[in-house]
Amino acid sequence: MRVLVTGGAGFLGSHLCDRLLRDGHEVVSLDNYFSGKRANVMHLRDHPNFELVRHDIVEPILLEVDRIFHLACPASPVHYQYNPVKTIKTSVMGTINMLGMAKRVRARILLASTSEVYGDPEQHPQTEGYWGHVNPIGVRACYDEGKRVAEALMMDYHRQNKIDIRIVRIFNTYGPRMAIDDGRVVSSFCAAALRGQDLEVYGDGKQTRSFAYVDDTVEALVRMMAQEEQIGPVNIGNPNEVTILELASLTIELAGSSSKLKILPARPDDPVRRKPDISLARKLLKWEPSVPLNSGLRKTIDHMRAELDMIGT
Ligand code: NAD
Ligand code: UDP
Repeated sequence: MRVLVTGGAGFLGSHLCDRLLRDGHEVVSLDNYFSGKRANVMHLRDHPNFELVRHDIVEPILLEVDRIFHLACPASPVHYQYNPVKTIKTSVMGTINMLGMAKRVRARILLASTSEVYGDPEQHPQTEGYWGHVNPIGVRACYDEGKRVAEALMMDYHRQNKIDIRIVRIFNTYGPRMAIDDGRVVSSFCAAALRGQDLEVYGDGKQTRSFAYVDDTVEALVRMMAQEEQIGPVNIGNPNEVTILELASLTIELAGSSSKLKILPARPDDPVRRKPDISLARKLLKWEPSVPLNSGLRKTIDHMRAELDMIGT
């Protein structure tokens, strides 16, 4: 098949391109390189089935494809809050453009939505039936509400125009190729531990997240796109819940570092607890995460160590 990956030069998108090429598809990576980089897909440059398109999805485009994995959107709070109006435009106008293309070329389209649609959740763990607890006027709203509108658009194009859609809600995913400076907790902690700097913990560090290794998430995306039974939304994540303090200690230990923790004020609207209920993914996709946090973190640290050695910082 001919498959488009929007956000294909980003962290998740580049791993997805690798996987789709291994599966024998023709792959088009579309990206404006806001938070992704060409280096993430440079190893694919000479692959006969790979194509790179520089494009901003806020503008319309028409490509003849059979499948669209729609991932383009900055995902780290630092990146999505840098230009919040642009973040909303990317989610809203970008998703309208991708749905318009899907309609025109009759492609199946999968939206990479997020656990952030649940906001600071009052239900724990979060099931797909939960409608969420989002501050619509807070600093995270550009991302959270943007993705909620993107989901609404997917559903309305499906009901109104019979577009073949899939929606996944991805929980925190980490691994090699996360941008060192993206401010997300895994990349920030790994970089600080490797540089011997303090790991900055926002708030008391007792807030929780559930971290999935990138290979597990990519496997789920591929399975979701392939199955014919349900359009979603389906939660994709690792139900192993850890506190940010636990993550910090583990990172320091695995990096063999002597870094210390530095406690800073909590970030506004920071969700206190997050853990996916993945019963639906288990049943529908016959999928569950297989990479434990310490082995995934080890691989991430090794990759980042090599990158830091190369750039010399
Ligand atoms: P990322 O920032 O590495 O990748 C996003 C990519 O989209 C980047 O390459 C960026 O340059 C590109 N992009 C942004 N705006 C664009 C635009 N207007 N036009 C074209 N390209 C644009 O982040 P990621 O972690 O790889 O996330 C990928 C997707 O998965 C995002 O939609 C994100 O919301 C979703 N997601 C990720 C996680 C996670 O933990 N990694 C969790 C939930 C959801
Ligand atoms: N966090 C932290 N130090 C950092 C980056 C993040 O303590 O350097 C915390 C953050 O406040 C949040 C959690 O780690 O509670 C996850 O943050 P991240 O930005 O990775 O993603 P989120 O799940 O909040 O979108």
